[in-house]
Amino acid sequence: MQKPTILSRRQFLTATAGGVASLALAACADDPEPGRYTAADIARLARQRETESARSGQGPFGPQKYRGYRGLSELPWFELDSDGQLRCVADDFPPAIDIHCHLGMSMFMAPEIDLMAPTGRVQHLLDCDREQPGCELDLDVYINANFTEDDLWELRKGAAGQAFWGSSAAATQTIPNLLGEMDATRVGEAVILPIAFGLPFGDDLTERWMDAIDRTELGDRLIKGASVHPRDAERIGKLERYAAAGARAVKLHPTMQRFYPDDPEVMEIYQACERLGLAVIFHAGRAGIEPEATHRYAMPRHFEGALGSFPNVDFVLGHAGARDAASALELALRYENAWLGIHGQGVTTLHEMLDATGGERMLFGTDWPFYHLAATLAKVLIITEGRQEQRDALLRGNAERLFGRGTAISSAGTHPRY
Ligand SMILES: [Zn+2]
Repeated sequence: MQKPTILSRRQFLTATAGGVASLALAACADDPEPGRYTAADIARLARQRETESARSGQGPFGPQKYRGYRGLSELPWFELDSDGQLRCVADDFPPAIDIHCHLGMSMFMAPEIDLMAPTGRVQHLLDCDREQPGCELDLDVYINANFTEDDLWELRKGAAGQAFWGSSAAATQTIPNLLGEMDATRVGEAVILPIAFGLPFGDDLTERWMDAIDRTELGDRLIKGASVHPRDAERIGKLERYAAAGARAVKLHPTMQRFYPDDPEVMEIYQACERLGLAVIFHAGRAGIEPEATHRYAMPRHFEGALGSFPNVDFVLGHAGARDAASALELALRYENAWLGIHGQGVTTLHEMLDATGGERMLFGTDWPFYHLAATLAKVLIITEGRQEQRDALLRGNAERLFGRGTAISSAGTHPRY
């Protein structure tokens, strides 16, 4: 890996137009590394999109299209309350642990968000309940296929706002609002994952979010995550400080941070995670809406070096490999330290994963505030109907095992506040 390059102002503005994914420190511009990303890879992504849209509704659960998150009230486990809020009304499963949450982001030059403020309605990044009836929400495709072209434009504009002038949506993605949604959906605890973008300043989401969790009375329901940029000279010292301050997991995002997860220099981070008892939560696979130039970094095969070299580190493949789910599943079947964060996958794919893995090492995660917590919860409940043991494992047991290796997970889950 070469030395970090700080973005020029022009590069930065250009990158920002491409969304949050582009905000990372520029990687080695002269480093296309042939073989890292091939014509076959590009073709596979195109095929994945075609196949999933053709087979939506053809799987074992039939069509799974709803009108907005509120529309999930058609399912037996949800209802709308007198305020029109979606609530989970089932109680025959344990409170879930959501291993993949974020808060509203403000960084670089944007004004800071008051993370302690309860506000009105949460504006999710897929803001499906904005209108009545809500947007079409298909649970049988990779979830970002539900974004229209207009939604994607809003998403990119919002990402630029998060870095420059602020984002009104991000201002609703606060701790009290998250806790409110957790209460409504029987989510007991959530792991809060910041991302280190490698910006020249205003890039301290880990510090700010961990501090906010410390300040809130209900902080025991929020599990601290941290992030370091792989090209940050201070990365190991930061990891040590974050672990000492209670972080349980480190989020690494090959696409946004533009690094290959098997780069020899990233190995130091895994070594530190092993020593400090931190799980590594990767963004894994191609989501398909990020700038194409970054697709190469998150190909599942690039994770194999980490998985094989550090058998004592637990690596979560976030989004279960996103649109590269088939390759991520193969890794999870081969490596016992590979976990599948299930967020994003449609019900047919999740059902196949459940059959292939027995549910072992599949982890509930929602990617809040991109989407309502209930979107992923509904999928888990659909695919585990009549499979109670697997339902409990996916929603809670597996995450307890993941975090059980270090100090005990917060006891909040045994005293959920509903
Ligand atoms: Zn995420």
